Amino acid sequence: MYNTNHSIASNLLLTVVVALIIGLIIGYPGWTLAAALIVWAAYQVKQFNRLQQWLMRNEHTEVPESEGYWGELFDEIARNQKRQQLRTQSLRNVIHRFQQSSAALSDAIVIIDSQNHLEWWNRAAEHLLGMKVQTDRGRSVMNLLRDPRFVRYYRKGQYDEPLQLNSPINEEKVLEYRITRFGADDRILVARDITRIKQLEQTRQDFVANASHELRTPLTVIRGYLETFLDQDLPRPLQRGLSQMENQSKRMENLVSDLLLLSRLEASPHISDELPVPVHSMIERIRDDALVLGQSKEHQVELELEPSQSLLGQESEIYSAFSNLVFNAVRYTPANGTIKLRWWTNKQGGHFSVQDDGPGIDTIHLPRLQERFYRVDESRSSDSGGTGLGLAIVKHVMLRHGGKLTIKSQLGKGSTFTCHFPAELITSKASIEETEDED
Ligand code: ADP
Repeated sequence: MYNTNHSIASNLLLTVVVALIIGLIIGYPGWTLAAALIVWAAYQVKQFNRLQQWLMRNEHTEVPESEGYWGELFDEIARNQKRQQLRTQSLRNVIHRFQQSSAALSDAIVIIDSQNHLEWWNRAAEHLLGMKVQTDRGRSVMNLLRDPRFVRYYRKGQYDEPLQLNSPINEEKVLEYRITRFGADDRILVARDITRIKQLEQTRQDFVANASHELRTPLTVIRGYLETFLDQDLPRPLQRGLSQMENQSKRMENLVSDLLLLSRLEASPHISDELPVPVHSMIERIRDDALVLGQSKEHQVELELEPSQSLLGQESEIYSAFSNLVFNAVRYTPANGTIKLRWWTNKQGGHFSVQDDGPGIDTIHLPRLQERFYRVDESRSSDSGGTGLGLAIVKHVMLRHGGKLTIKSQLGKGSTFTCHFPAELITSKASIEETEDED
């Protein structure tokens, strides 16, 4: 690199030496040295002024002409400026390309700063979310996307699962919101138009619901006739055939009603109203039914019900979920096994667990167990009379209540299925009684 200090020092030294030599020759070394230093300083000041003026003018003006180290200094600064310009240009190109590519995306992208203010967004955000360049920059995201469900989702800060909502400017469009954190608590919001996927999903659900509904009537007729025939005094082989037909038509009826229930549960992601659910009496009723179902196996069914708090939700759905888990335990646990039903509440919410000491489930199956028609052992499930939809129903009931189903199991040691309800659905019995009195 160019060394200015060194050049100025050697130039000054040279000036002093030459002035002294000339001064000694003409006999006035002191005056000559003083005059030379004044001229030298004036020259430096002049060059410095030129440098200052050049730097203050537009950076694109011509580099000032100069000799020696000042010339080299001007050239070095000009080269640095050029390098800087090239770097700025290339950064500008990168930003321009990023803006062009994100503008071309069909998904809305919004950058939100740590104070929840809108910082930047692409063109799709204007179409899908209604953002306006002139007025919305710097506004709070929650002022623009005011749906309480979005505000709750945004504030909660748990963005593992996306949120589905209608577009704030077009009710017919369904959007899927995803939020990712970056930098110092900044966020990127991506909103995707999933209207078409939703429509296809709706078509599928409608088809299953309609098909199940249509199958119901012929099945009822067939079963009615089979029952009538079985009441007659028929030859043995015919009787056996007919009773198998009756069993299978019963299975089909169960399947159809489970399919109908599942499509009803899928139709909306949340329960419509939350009413007090008599959890204790419900579990006791299910226990009695379980004892009847597993009569021949002589299971021991234990209850452990915490008295304190009450659950809000949809009673019939919760009954389906709980009974599916208990009846599974009865079906899969061998004779003389123990089944334990527990209900308790804590800070996280309310929990219902069904623990059995049956055959257990290999861990490789656990992630897929809540899918519809997923079975660990086809022959065992068919023998037990299951439809393959039980755990899918439980999963959807729990989702609609804002909760989840967890499964713990060890092969040969038994399984524990637990329904977890969120704390919002747990209230003290006193507060329920108060609201009932008000009514
Ligand atoms: P199914 O109608 O076949 O019981 P489910 O969805 O209720 O369908 O259950 C899915 C599978 O999970 C069952 O086929 C069975 O293999 C397994 N399973 C469910 N509950 C238990 C249990 N308590 N013990 C062992 N395996 C179970």
